[in-house]
Amino acid sequence: MQPCRYSRPGIITMKKKPVVIAIDGTSASGKSTNSKRVAAALDYTYVDTGAMYRTLAWYCIQQKVDVDDPKAIAEVLKHWKTKLVCANKAVYLTVDGYHPATEIRTSATSAVVPKVAAVPAVRAWMKKRQRECVEFGDLVMEGRDIGSAIFPETEFKFYLDASLDERSRRREADGVIENLAERDRRDTQRATSPLMISLGATVINNSKMTSEETTALLLKEIRAKLDKQKSNS
Ligand code: C5P
Repeated sequence: MQPCRYSRPGIITMKKKPVVIAIDGTSASGKSTNSKRVAAALDYTYVDTGAMYRTLAWYCIQQKVDVDDPKAIAEVLKHWKTKLVCANKAVYLTVDGYHPATEIRTSATSAVVPKVAAVPAVRAWMKKRQRECVEFGDLVMEGRDIGSAIFPETEFKFYLDASLDERSRRREADGVIENLAERDRRDTQRATSPLMISLGATVINNSKMTSEETTALLLKEIRAKLDKQKSNS
């Protein structure tokens, strides 16, 4: 009998499932600073999902799309030419090959973004791209619905918060004036994947903590979980 030409002794390699650390929370609760630090400390890839929603809001403003018309926003998703790019262990979205890094941080964009983020078609579009980010390896992903809707299966869920007074103080210190209460209201009250504390999330209220203390606490919790996973496998 001829040996099957395809049967050769092989080595079965199991690809390790990427770890996803979900960091959700209110605006100005320290998500970005802490997520970036945690990603750097663990050598994971950082994903700022807020920046993805901001990119869409910016693009809609550019294209003079009526941001109060969900159908018009959903239409944009059909034709805009985007790409998820990973550089220096951070993922961002480009439109027509352009990364609007500074434009998406203006107060005009901040005011519009909860409107586009409330559109169900937008959330479905973002979910698909955000789940695709695992192709870039282990992730620290920050947002509003990462633990509840994007990666509900992850064991690493955190929810950062601080008092409104403290968060407003932080924004002012950054030289940004915005209506945080209004943005929180829109984010928590939208019908599709609102901002909420997802089941199993560790809540960290850092009103009275420095950002270094918050990072240290996050890393302590994450490393304990990673060690536990290792000893169970
Ligand atoms: O995190 P950042 O403040 O940049 O997010 C901007 C806005 O994008 C939020 O206020 C929210 O409306 C929307 N967003 C969201 N879901 C995410 C991340 C951001 O709805 N996962």
